[in-house]
Amino acid sequence: MQGIKNFINGEFVDAATGKHFEKRSPVDGKVIAHIAEAGQADVDAAVVAAQEALKGEWGKLTVDQRVDLLYGVANEISRRFEDFVAAEMADTGQPRHVMTSAFIPRGAANFKVFADIIKNVPNESFPMATPDGRGALNYAIRVPKGVIAVISPWNAPFLLMTWKVGPALACGNTVVVKPSEETPMTTTLLGEVMNTVGMPKGVYNVIHGFGPDSAGEFLTRHPLVDAITFTGETRTGTAIMKAAAEGVRDVSFELGGKNAGIVFADTDFTAAVEGIFRSAFLNSGQVCLGTERVYVERPIFERFVLALKAKCEAVKFGRPDDHAANYGPLISDEHRQKVLSYYSKAVEEGATVVTGGGIPPMSADLAGGNWIQPTIWTGLPETAAVVREEIFGPCCHIRPFESEDEVVNLANATDYGLSTTIWTSDLSRAHRLAARIDVGVTWVNSWFLRDLRTAFGGAKQSGIGREGGVHSLEFYTETRNICVKL
Ligand code: NAD
Repeated sequence: MQGIKNFINGEFVDAATGKHFEKRSPVDGKVIAHIAEAGQADVDAAVVAAQEALKGEWGKLTVDQRVDLLYGVANEISRRFEDFVAAEMADTGQPRHVMTSAFIPRGAANFKVFADIIKNVPNESFPMATPDGRGALNYAIRVPKGVIAVISPWNAPFLLMTWKVGPALACGNTVVVKPSEETPMTTTLLGEVMNTVGMPKGVYNVIHGFGPDSAGEFLTRHPLVDAITFTGETRTGTAIMKAAAEGVRDVSFELGGKNAGIVFADTDFTAAVEGIFRSAFLNSGQVCLGTERVYVERPIFERFVLALKAKCEAVKFGRPDDHAANYGPLISDEHRQKVLSYYSKAVEEGATVVTGGGIPPMSADLAGGNWIQPTIWTGLPETAAVVREEIFGPCCHIRPFESEDEVVNLANATDYGLSTTIWTSDLSRAHRLAARIDVGVTWVNSWFLRDLRTAFGGAKQSGIGREGGVHSLEFYTETRNICVKL
C-alpha cells in the first residue's frame, strides 16, 4: 500500500487536515494507495511557496539556466522511465504499450520542447518616428505571469499535466498542480524528479484532493493565483471560470468533445477501420480527442460496421503488464456506471447494438475491476443522447451519409468543437472539409498525430485559447511594451 503525500516547497508532506482518501486499482478494485487530502491551509502553503519562489533563486535565473534545469527534468524522467510507467499503469489500468509509446515519453518531451522554444522565441521591436526627428524604439519583453494553477484530469494524467507544467516553467512561472483524485501518482513522482535535478523549492508544488469545496476549488479561488490552466469537463470549466472572474484571472481551457470521424468510400478501407478503431477505443475510449460519432459514406457503410465490430470483438481484456492482453478497464466504478447508463439509454432510444453493450465476463481476480465492453450502435437519430453528449467511454454511433455537404452539417451539429478525423484518398476534398468543420484539430488519414509546436485547443464549448509551441507563450507570459525615446 502506497502513502501519497502533497509536495509543497520541495517537501513531501501530509495534509494539515490529517485526512486521507483511497485510490482503488481500476483492474481489480483493490485499494492501492492512501492519499493525503489537502485542505485550505495546505493549498495556502503551496500557493505561498510558489509565490515566494518567484521572488527567490528561480526568479533570478537566466533563460539558459532555466532551460538546463528543464532538460535535466526531461532526462531524469527518461532515466526513471520504468517508475513512471509503473505508476501510471497502477493509476489508470491501461496497457503498458499505451504508457511506453505515448503517455510517458510525451511527458518528458513536454519539458524539452518548451525549453527549446523559450530559448529561440523571437521578440518584436519597432523603430518609430517622432516629431523632433530623433525617433523612438518600441520593443517587447516577456515576463512570467506568476503563480499558475494547473488542474488536470485522469485520462492521460502525466502527458496532460506536463503539457502545462513544461511551458509554465519554461516561461519562468511557478506552479501548483492539482492532479485528478483518480490519478495522483505520476504528478507526485515528478516532485522527486524536481528535487533530484535541483529545481529550487516552491517552483513545482502538488496538492491532492477533489474539485468542488476541496483542493481544486480552494486553488482556483486563491487570490495569489495569477492564472489557471485546466483540462477536464466543460461543466467543470464553467465553475472554474466563475472562480477566475474574482480577481480577473486569465484562463486556458481544454474541455470536452463529441468528435466526428468521417469515412469516405474512396478511402484505404483497412487503414480507415484501423484508424477509427484507435480513435474510438484507445485508452478504453477515455480520450478527449476520441471519436464517438462516426459517419461512413453509404456504399461502404455495412462493410465498415462489420469490420469495426470484428476489431471490437477481438480485444483481450487484462492487466496492464499482461502481454496476452491489449485492453484496459475504465478509470473508476463511478465512471463505469455513467458509461453504462448511456449503454442503457441507447437501447431505450431505439439503437441497434452492433456489439458490446455491457460488462465482459472476467476471471475472479479481475471481477472487481471496472471492465466494460467496447460498444457500437447504429440506427439512432442525431437528437439521441448518446449521439449528442460526451460519454468518454469505449463506444461510438455509426451513421451513413450521402454527400459532403450533409456530412459537414452533421459533424458541425454539436456544442463541442475539439477535433475531427477524415478518411479519404481525395486530398482536395480533405482540404475543403477541414476548412469547413468547426474544430480546433483536424486529422486527415490519421489520428492523434501532433507536433508539440503546433496550436492545440477546442472551438465552441471544447475550450478557450490555444496551447502548444509559441501559442503556449501567449498564455504563460505577459508581454510588456517598452518605448525608448532616442
Ligand atoms: P473533471 O472536469 O471532472 O476533472 C478535472 C479536474 O478538475 C480534476 O482534477 C478535478 O478534481 C478538478 N475539478 C473538478 N471540479 C472542480 C472545481 N469545481 N474546481 C476546481 N477543480 C475542479 O474531468 P475528468 O473527468 O477528470 O476528465 C475527463 C474530461 O476531461 C472529459 O470531459 C474530457 O473530454 C476532458 N479532457 C479534455 C482534454 C482536452 O485537451 N480538451 C484532454 C483530456 C480530457
